Amino acid sequence: CVFWVSDIEISRAQTPKPVDQLAEEIGLLPEELEAYGRNKAKVQLSLLDRLHSQPDGNYVLVAGITPTPLGEGKSTVTIGLVQALSAHLKLNSFACLRQPSQGPTFGVKGGAAGGGYAQVIPMEEFNLHLTGDIHAITAANNLVAAAIDARMLHEATQSDKALFNRLVPTVNGVRTFSPIQISRLRRLGISKTEPTSLTPQEVSAFVRLDLDPSKITWQRVLDTNDRFLRKITVGQASTEKGQIRETGFDIAVASEIMAILALSDSLKDMKDRLAHMVVGTSRSGGPVTAEDLGVSGAVAVLMKDAIKPTLMQTLEGTPVFVHAGPFANIAHGNSSVLADKLALKLVGRDGFVVTEAGFGADIGMEKFFNIKCRASGLRPNVVVLVATVRALKMHGGGPNVSLAHQKNIVLFYLCGCHSNLKKQIQIAHLFGVPVVVALNVFKTDTRAEIDLVCQIAKTCGASDAVPCHHWSQGGRGCLELAQAVKEATRRPSNFQFLYPTEKIRTIAQKVYGANDMELSPEAKSKIDYYNQQGYGSLPICMAKTHLSLSHMADKKGAPTGFILPIRDIRASVGAGFIYPLVGTMSTMPGLPTRPCFYDIDLDPDTEEITGLF
Ligand code: ADP
Repeated sequence: CVFWVSDIEISRAQTPKPVDQLAEEIGLLPEELEAYGRNKAKVQLSLLDRLHSQPDGNYVLVAGITPTPLGEGKSTVTIGLVQALSAHLKLNSFACLRQPSQGPTFGVKGGAAGGGYAQVIPMEEFNLHLTGDIHAITAANNLVAAAIDARMLHEATQSDKALFNRLVPTVNGVRTFSPIQISRLRRLGISKTEPTSLTPQEVSAFVRLDLDPSKITWQRVLDTNDRFLRKITVGQASTEKGQIRETGFDIAVASEIMAILALSDSLKDMKDRLAHMVVGTSRSGGPVTAEDLGVSGAVAVLMKDAIKPTLMQTLEGTPVFVHAGPFANIAHGNSSVLADKLALKLVGRDGFVVTEAGFGADIGMEKFFNIKCRASGLRPNVVVLVATVRALKMHGGGPNVSLAHQKNIVLFYLCGCHSNLKKQIQIAHLFGVPVVVALNVFKTDTRAEIDLVCQIAKTCGASDAVPCHHWSQGGRGCLELAQAVKEATRRPSNFQFLYPTEKIRTIAQKVYGANDMELSPEAKSKIDYYNQQGYGSLPICMAKTHLSLSHMADKKGAPTGFILPIRDIRASVGAGFIYPLVGTMSTMPGLPTRPCFYDIDLDPDTEEITGLF
């Protein structure tokens, strides 16, 4: 008998336990929980103080080989692994996952709650809105954008004196600077805090940010693949008095504020990072920040709830933190530092926290190590590298996903495994961390293929390689992986960062396998500019296609002999990284001819959602 049950049917068939019961099971106090309905709750950061002296658990990163456009099962492996560890081996375990963007949910890839019998439930709540963090980011990002354009208009139409009188109003008869304005004065080298004592030159320096319209790097965002907003013109109404300029939209999860949410380790740290966000350059060449605009405090207010991770559960009732969701190709691709830190304390010394890095190991894992671990100070014990027979066949020469199902062992043996899988294992080893390969088994895979991939993975340097059946069997189907991970955490992890200097070239050559990289004239001048501004020591967050180790999506396996083109370089100073745009990479994805939303619908009588997967 052959039958197929959809992810959403599996999700609905399981009634989640009430979130306060889950919270009690994992040791949270009632006052540390802020429930959003029955199935999910935000967790207060004060928990970190309460568990301060508790030792951290084992830290496991799930990464993958270069995927097909459908994904190879990192989320399902992450969830299946914690289900196995928690529900079956009875070890305290937590999964830390990213919140999905509406871009892929309604676009090409679909939701990201896992799949089959390895899911976060309820999957509709996970995939849609959740606790509103992405909406908060959109609001916060666009408040900064509105502040930029309004400020340029006001500076263009008012005298220094009029600007000063409005920016520093009289309160109870006294003209007073706000704390955020005192900060700006300090950065300008003005030590006076009495408004009336400023010289006319100091007044002018204080009130005029003098943003160069052609050098504004801050864009508006929207959590939809809306390609027609990639380039827009703003200020066309007569009320804006000719302040017309070209700008554009990015997808919300590419906002620097999302990166900051994911990298902050406290409310104070987030607030500081938000204040340091550079939105553009003044005509005299200096950086202009969100704090200069006076908006960073308001942005922090909009983000104050978003900073708390959201607690949910797997199909087998084990705990999950869902928090932050930067894309891995155009941002740093990892869930939040805070969720990982809270979870590591909650599981305790013998427990396991399994977190996922987006796309292939060359992208998500490299950024996990070089950006997230640099920010958090945490060190992973083991990398689980997810592979599928279908993707290895594609790397072995299949031109697309449907051909990847051909049973051509020789092809994938010769090329797929020995190129992409081997290269991705080597990349993890560059950082000194042991690798367990998890072969995510599909029902079309043969025994011979499964054995062959596991055997090759071990000869390529993996400390173990095991097949995983979590998608069809849940945690029970992932027990072999759970044992292998447990075993691997006993091995020493000699973690090291990849680069001190020459960062872009080091990633291009050592991680992607390029001969060299080539900077466009624009990228070269940006490097000089960022060095002058003192941002030269920031780590790098490459914006590159996830479909190949190179910048060319159709080059599968482990391509060599190519030059990596760096088109432009931008800075997320608040988040704390520089991001080169590789090749034609865009920060606003487009929708295909037939996006996922064709299948997504709502029954108005039952309120049932259909077509989410
Ligand atoms: P990733 O995290 O690598 O992007 P996901 O875990 O989200 O990948 O899986 C991508 C899609 O593939 C999901 O729809 C999931 O249900 C499906 N999938 C994953 N593993 C299997 C499997 N073993 N058999 C069938 N479908 C699977």
